[in-house]
Amino acid sequence: MKSLNKVQSHLIAECFNKLYIGGQFVDAIDGEKIPTYYPATGELLHEFPRGKANDVDAAIAAAEAAWVEGTWAGMSAAERAEIVIKMAQGIEDNIAMLAEIEAADVGKPYRQAAMTLGGAAGEGKYWCSLGKVLDAEQDVPVNSGGGEGGVPPAEWDVVYRRDPIGVIGLISAWNYPMNVAFRKVAPALVAGNCAILKPSEIAGLSCMFIGKLAQDAGIPPGVFNVVTGDRDAGAALAASPSVSMISFTGSTLTGSKIMGACAPKLSQVALELGGKSALVVFDDTDLDKAVETTMKGFLANGGQICTAHTRLVVQDSIEAPLLNKLKEELEKLPFCNDPITEKDRGDRAWEDGMTDVVQPVVCDSQHKKIMGFLHEAKAAGVEVLTGGEVPDEATVGNSGGYFIQPTVLINVERDADVWQKEVFGPVLSVRSFSTEDDAVLEANSTSFGLASTVMSSDPAKAMRVANRIRAGAVFATSTGEGLLAEHPAVSRGGFGFSGVGRELGIGGLHEYTELKSVNYTGFSLADAKKKHTG
Ligand code: NAD
Repeated sequence: MKSLNKVQSHLIAECFNKLYIGGQFVDAIDGEKIPTYYPATGELLHEFPRGKANDVDAAIAAAEAAWVEGTWAGMSAAERAEIVIKMAQGIEDNIAMLAEIEAADVGKPYRQAAMTLGGAAGEGKYWCSLGKVLDAEQDVPVNSGGGEGGVPPAEWDVVYRRDPIGVIGLISAWNYPMNVAFRKVAPALVAGNCAILKPSEIAGLSCMFIGKLAQDAGIPPGVFNVVTGDRDAGAALAASPSVSMISFTGSTLTGSKIMGACAPKLSQVALELGGKSALVVFDDTDLDKAVETTMKGFLANGGQICTAHTRLVVQDSIEAPLLNKLKEELEKLPFCNDPITEKDRGDRAWEDGMTDVVQPVVCDSQHKKIMGFLHEAKAAGVEVLTGGEVPDEATVGNSGGYFIQPTVLINVERDADVWQKEVFGPVLSVRSFSTEDDAVLEANSTSFGLASTVMSSDPAKAMRVANRIRAGAVFATSTGEGLLAEHPAVSRGGFGFSGVGRELGIGGLHEYTELKSVNYTGFSLADAKKKHTG
């Protein structure tokens, strides 16, 4: 395919073919490669290095050397941010190329890739703006107030500091490759850590560019490293005694394994995991808006979003008209047979609230996994309202791609896998409710708790229900506006199976620091500062 050749011409660059360790682009020690394919056709896109435990060790050694040398941690956060912001700018300056790479790697429409890469650059700048904020938090007098004995002894000068943690591992997922990775890289570096990024082997090509951005920005050698590889490389990073924190985005199962690997050494973990978010629709919601929101919620990025709203909880009085309209709209959607060139039509999910194209899922193994869920559901008697199959080649206009029809499963049992487990594809499961209490029960009926949305034209009812939903981010809306959106200053994360810790906002930066008190007695902080500055 012509469009694929264009992307492959970008991928000739050194950074897409080597590991980035100690400020240099180097080959993987064993020289093995991992192939990756264009999801729309199944054609070979690229082969990149399969870094292994020995490469991970080399990256850890480089990061440890930089940590011990201490220049990076010794700078102020604002000084570090002045360097990291050049990396964010580098993303912005290269959006057209990176969006073509992500379109080819993930199979998402170019237009959506370009939009979210703009988000990654903007968010990177936000993290850098927090450099000054972090500096202002150094040597802040402890005055916890509140409660008896809430103030430290008057004769002590007690201050808080926020120290970097040390050498940390950043392990990322493939669905928004650059966004997920740079959301870790930028705060980790602004906070003063030395880091090793291990992108996803499924779609992580754009993340390899972060090594070049670090080199061009002048990040000191060893402070930031990139090792591509599969789960074994991730496992080696998580288990290393030299790595003091793992920040991970990925599946709940892997998150749990990483927590296990970190347990013996008691190193920190920040885990952004899977979801099974509910969209609760009350009967006073505008029907067209409800249908639009449902489509966007489960189909944006092919349903491959951690916060995808893949459970529809609809009030029984409007279930039939809503489902009829949903089926009609879904069956009209065209398949996106060349995401790289989807520049004009693309997926408007993020902008206009409309999902107007069906993208392929990311790879053959995900395709098989999703179809496995559908076969099992059908065998167990779950009713299919629409979809449920692989579309034929003539409908898609391609052969060999990893396409699945947008699928709606109705009258799903609460204990069914398709209600309880993350399918991570274009599959919606539906249950109905009659009372407000039932709506809350249904929304909270899985072990996940990443996001959820309540739709109603009654603000008080929306608020009551939103406050009872157990999820890290809840949207209460009459229009569906803002669904799936994130703001860099608004912390997010998961309850239960959806994670540990919070990303974004100042709390997201604090995750990459250790809080420390320094207790001055016999002399004051002011004395110490005078001596310190000479
Ligand atoms: P995954 O868990 O299969 O892999 C994620 C990363 O972990 C990859 O880099 C992989 O190589 C690595 N890995 C695998 N096994 C490992 C191990 N034992 N030790 C260390 N590293 C290991 O997840 P995925 O398929 O890449 O991503 C999809 C998942 O990510 C979904 O569950 C999705 O919900 C979740 N996700 C969550 C968020 C969030 O913010 N909560 C955002 C995006 C994606």
